[in-house]
Amino acid sequence: MSFETKAIHAGRSVDRTTSAVTMPIHLSTTFERAEDGTYPNEFIYSRENNPNRQALEHCLTSLEDGHDCVTFASGMAAISSVIEALPADKPRRVIMPNDMYYGIRSLLSDTDIGINFDIDVVDMTDLNQVEKVVKKAPTGLVWIETPSNPLVKVTDIAAIAGIVQQAGAYTVVDNTWATPILQRPLSLGVDFSIHAATKYIGGHSDLMIGAVIAKSDSQMLANLRAWQHAKGAVPSPFDCWLALRGVQSLAPRMATHCSNAAAIADFLNQHPKVEAVHYPGLADNPGYAIAARQMDSFGGMLSFQVKGGEREAMTVAAKVQLLIRATSLGGTHSLIEHRASVEGSTTTAPPNLLRLSIGLEHVDDLKEDLAQALG
Ligand SMILES: *Cc1c(COP(=O)(O)O)cnc(C)c1O
Repeated sequence: MSFETKAIHAGRSVDRTTSAVTMPIHLSTTFERAEDGTYPNEFIYSRENNPNRQALEHCLTSLEDGHDCVTFASGMAAISSVIEALPADKPRRVIMPNDMYYGIRSLLSDTDIGINFDIDVVDMTDLNQVEKVVKKAPTGLVWIETPSNPLVKVTDIAAIAGIVQQAGAYTVVDNTWATPILQRPLSLGVDFSIHAATKYIGGHSDLMIGAVIAKSDSQMLANLRAWQHAKGAVPSPFDCWLALRGVQSLAPRMATHCSNAAAIADFLNQHPKVEAVHYPGLADNPGYAIAARQMDSFGGMLSFQVKGGEREAMTVAAKVQLLIRATSLGGTHSLIEHRASVEGSTTTAPPNLLRLSIGLEHVDDLKEDLAQALG
């Protein structure tokens, strides 16, 4: 079945008791046992499993042609669980990219994860460096984020998976920015694909969920399921219902996100007040060839550097009327963000960089707003 069809039908069925075509929200925390002590519908207690969560997990498994999916209360709950679920017989060494979601850097600096694991940071776009770092010491986990945040760098997933496989480590791709329709990491040889479903999968900036989709059965997957049950950072039934509602329109939404973003990237690239545009769909972008190979389109995220410095960039952000100054991404509305000031003193974002999450508005309105803001 094609992606578009699975996004609408996978994990769902007409409700047998009422014939409702849309799944009800099952708020019940507990489920009745039969007289013989069994659970006829398998559900026992909502932290362990819930019908809405199960439907969402089945749908996401299907969308990435995976083996199973484990969801959490946020993208970061999923990400921290993946690192902590590294099986005890694996080396406590994690290799991470130098351009990556800021929340993961906070996780490493503000919690024990940064102490309990040896973290090695590398430029994932440089395969020689990756190979050197992987060979330096026994490794448990290699982390890929592509396209990356905030510089929209593209990493060759299949090439890294090849290097890592020989070392016996697990590979993970944070697939949030690409979404399951544009990029399917499991088919490129990695073990786990992660999503902040908070973003494009939900698609309307109104829920928080993290999802880990596994390519096959493994000790790590068993640990993740146990982590979900035992630590209990589970998504609510309502958030699961919203995500399953949102994901139905992922394909047409992404088509518009991508075509709008490509047009905005072209527009900014020709603007005299713009120093640089970071978007893998631009033919002169260093990630263009790899993105063209491993993605179906180039995504809805881009960043650009305003000529001058932080003040000039902040002025552009201050002047927008239609775009909204806010963090996050993947909703129907376009967002603009000055990353360096959001991330604080430890940021690696250039001071004149603005990040855009391009929404589903008419592209001419977005261009007009950016044109007046750039002055
Ligand atoms: C937002 C985001 C996360 C974290 O997701 P939350 O739901 O906010 O916890 C992780 N990775 C990427 C790439 C993101 O954009």
